[in-house]
Amino acid sequence: MFNWKIFKKDLENKLEKNILIENDANCFTLSESKMGAGIGFGLVFGVIMGTGVGGGIVINNVLHCGKNDIAGEWGHHTLHQNGNSCYCGKSGCVETYISGPSLEKRWNELTGNTQSMPEIISNFDYTVGKQWKDEFLDNFGYGLANVIDILDPDAIILGGGLSNIDFLYTEGKKSIYSKVFSDIIETPILKNKLGDSSGVFGAALLD
Ligand SMILES: [Zn+2]
Repeated sequence: MFNWKIFKKDLENKLEKNILIENDANCFTLSESKMGAGIGFGLVFGVIMGTGVGGGIVINNVLHCGKNDIAGEWGHHTLHQNGNSCYCGKSGCVETYISGPSLEKRWNELTGNTQSMPEIISNFDYTVGKQWKDEFLDNFGYGLANVIDILDPDAIILGGGLSNIDFLYTEGKKSIYSKVFSDIIETPILKNKLGDSSGVFGAALLD
């Protein structure tokens, strides 16, 4: 797997300067915690859902990277054993079910139509797309319910292209809540406030 530490060292050697580097999901979570939808929340779990699925953890405005630098990488936890194969070498990863490209692929398998996510969502045909949407909501729900069971964050903030899908904050939230261990669940599922600039702001906030 790609190693940030080695990449950072290589860049520093080439540039002969110290640099700060973080992945997009961590930068996103940091900026939303400090300047966006996460203001006032202690433990924020940031989610990127777009061409890939990533995540980051910020605790009291400090990025938590983990011992192996993979904290928050919920996109590569196994959702379906022996499921779709993933570029990371495993199979059944969350990303292979609810990233934009994987959802478009599944839409094509189920309906025969080749459409982009914005096209699918803007003219959503429930008669044709019921199974697709049910699967999407289930996979989204199980993926984030697992995160809540382990981390129990104060807020979850969605970013990336798919964060513009309105039903993730209604039916999607309901799906998550129904799968969490606790009967009482109040975790806010929030839309990002900084939009596409969130990652860039986060990079500027690194220290
Ligand atoms: Zn994977």
